[in-house]
Amino acid sequence: MTETHFESGIGFARRADHHDPLSKFRMSFFIPETNIIYLDGNSLGRLPHRTRERLQQALDYQWGTRLIRSWNEGWYDMPSRLGARLAPIIGAGEDEVIVGDSTSLNLFKAAWAATKLQKGRTRLITDDLNFPTDIYVLQGIANQLGPDFEVTIARSSDGLTLTSEDLEKVLNEETALVVLSHVAFKSAYMHDMKAVTDLVHSHGALMLWDLSHSAGVVPVQLNEAGADLAIGCTYKYLNGGPGAPAYLFAKKELQEKMESPIWGWFGDENPFAFNLGYKPAPGMSRFLVGTPPVLSMTGIEPGLDLILKAGIGSIRKKSIRLTEYLMFLIDEKLKPLGFTTGTPGRAENRGSHVALRHPEAFRICQAMIFPADNNVKVIPDFREPDNIRLGVAPLYNSYEEMYLAIERIERIVEEKLYLNYSGERAGVT
Ligand SMILES: *Cc1c(COP(=O)(O)O)cnc(C)c1O
Repeated sequence: MTETHFESGIGFARRADHHDPLSKFRMSFFIPETNIIYLDGNSLGRLPHRTRERLQQALDYQWGTRLIRSWNEGWYDMPSRLGARLAPIIGAGEDEVIVGDSTSLNLFKAAWAATKLQKGRTRLITDDLNFPTDIYVLQGIANQLGPDFEVTIARSSDGLTLTSEDLEKVLNEETALVVLSHVAFKSAYMHDMKAVTDLVHSHGALMLWDLSHSAGVVPVQLNEAGADLAIGCTYKYLNGGPGAPAYLFAKKELQEKMESPIWGWFGDENPFAFNLGYKPAPGMSRFLVGTPPVLSMTGIEPGLDLILKAGIGSIRKKSIRLTEYLMFLIDEKLKPLGFTTGTPGRAENRGSHVALRHPEAFRICQAMIFPADNNVKVIPDFREPDNIRLGVAPLYNSYEEMYLAIERIERIVEEKLYLNYSGERAGVT
């Protein structure tokens, strides 16, 4: 599937950039700081130029000038319009996705509604590779539904991947719902969406996918895989901006059966009738709660447009090449210095980041982000206890950046520059 030929010198990286059909997309992003290599697009994607223009227009024209009239000039239907725009990126129908609220809140609504559909089934399943909020939200649902309900966490046997045997051990006729991240936030392990969904269905359970680390960078085919529900955030590979609202997918035939646990007026069939009794809106709108955060929503569309323009197939192709190249450079330059990888070796089992592990990972990250001299700044993120995540965003990262980042890490460790940094954790790592 992938070509495995790489060369050690920087000349290889420069030639690869020269032949890269996606290299021109970098110009679509606002990159004011030079001498910086940003490898954290998997936590907060870069700002597209178009987004700055859109936000300025939303301020001056929509809010500043049109004021309340703007609700009928595009604000009111933003959640469904953005959902339709996002749908092809995740292999969903246009009327199967709604944008609003946070990922955590959408998980709560979707998982609660799914559990309620599964009468007599009382177990919620997730795995120990999942992002903590996903686990906590499920534990909170079980806590609210009562003592019969229980969350079971499937255990990975190697700490990086979850095999179908690992999962099958915890599935039975009591399983109501399985919630997994399509791509795991720490190891980048990517589940086979169709195979896992089939396995879960064979036990009569519903399947909910968290796409936070996959949408926009790996092909996602929710309908082809038969997925029941999905959620995900828009501020990572979709470049929607800090705290931008998330999305919720429910397959068509489930929508009318599902009930949101939060009966807000935006989820009512006619919010502006101001009726005294709630009636769920048809379709995905029933999952809305209150007034959408218009300015934050405004930032989402230009990022989606860029992904659609580049095409998810080309994005995935470059993502694989870049992560393979990283793995090659790590083998060659960093493994001799005591590094290991915490990421599956095969590209088809991997999302778009590489976890690099070292006992001094935290201080190495500090030295990367805050160089004492004029050296290039490299921005990864740190995940406890010893992971440096190198996130690869194919729309704005280059092969040369991969080379320079690994060279910088090599120097930090070879010259023990990290010894000058404190191991004390700040608020956000
Ligand atoms: C980033 C991420 C989230 C974030 O949830 P928020 O509610 O937006 O804070 C949730 N789940 C996964 C798997 C993530 O990667």
